[in-house]
Amino acid sequence: MTFTAQILTLYPEMFPGPLGTSLAGRALAEGKWACDTINPRDFTTDKHRSVDDTPAGGGAGMVLRADIMAAAVDHAVARMAEKVRSSRAQSRDGLAASDVSTSLDTNGDGSLATVSGEPDAVSGEPNSVSPEPVEPKATAGERRLPSEKRGSTGSPLTDTPPTAPILAMTPRGKPLTQARVREIASGPGVTIICGRFEGFDERLFEARAIEEVSIGDYILSGGEMGALVLLDACIRLLPGVMGASSSGDDESFENVILEYPQYTRPQIWEGRIIPEVLRSGDHAKIAAWRKQKAEEDTRLRRPDLWERHRDNPDQSPSGAQEKDKDKE
Ligand code: SAH
Repeated sequence: MTFTAQILTLYPEMFPGPLGTSLAGRALAEGKWACDTINPRDFTTDKHRSVDDTPAGGGAGMVLRADIMAAAVDHAVARMAEKVRSSRAQSRDGLAASDVSTSLDTNGDGSLATVSGEPDAVSGEPNSVSPEPVEPKATAGERRLPSEKRGSTGSPLTDTPPTAPILAMTPRGKPLTQARVREIASGPGVTIICGRFEGFDERLFEARAIEEVSIGDYILSGGEMGALVLLDACIRLLPGVMGASSSGDDESFENVILEYPQYTRPQIWEGRIIPEVLRSGDHAKIAAWRKQKAEEDTRLRRPDLWERHRDNPDQSPSGAQEKDKDKE
């Protein structure tokens, strides 16, 4: 099935951007993933097509309006539901996965919004107070898929296929991890909301099942680069993209440690020689050396990762595990 990336962005021309080249670009051309953008500006109602307004309480900058962003999100949810449904139907009909993307550009109609989307729970009026809040606020980064929010059987713990999560890029979100990337990559797709200006009106996250995600403790000018990072991390795991399957056993690959150091020819460079063990041809010794270096470097460079690894020591170094898999 084609992995569908939907990106809500004021700058659709930034996609696929760098993901149109190399590994991801090839996978895109082969229909292993599809890249669709939705511009929140298309959901504005005023003649200036404004998506933002000044912050309540004062302060610098502008804030993305909840009503406009929610309208774009609702559209994205309906469209994703339609894509997943038609993609699954076509898979059942035995069509090649690469044929699926061509049929994915139709907009979902209102009737589809309930397939994996949110019902119109909150009025579109920005200042109206919903008499019956649909759902208490999810804590930042809490991973609730839309289907789980509705109490359906779409949970990853059941046999039901996983739904595509809706993510918002924000430095206030839960830091992105390889484990989460693997979960997302194993599903049908992802919708990513890119912020701009000072970010989002908080009520957007109260009213919709959106997972807030951060790509690190620094501030970007917009969520687009974060979306590209997340998609790149997902795409390389899609079946057939790196010549290895991303499904199955690795789902619990959560507490990675750093990779061991790598070397290549020339054997001597500026008087520095590749460690003797790596030239020995003794695979057992090489594996032991790599394990020891990976642990040592993790302990010194990333005490936080090391701590987690100690609680769960059955994990391989990140790169080692994936590279060995690729050779299969
Ligand atoms: N005023 C906000 C920053 C806004 S930066 C704050 O201090 O929290 C504008 C947009 O860039 C954000 O809405 C978000 O979409 C994106 N962004 C910036 N830094 C990010 C990060 N570390 N991770 C994910 N998205 C980020």
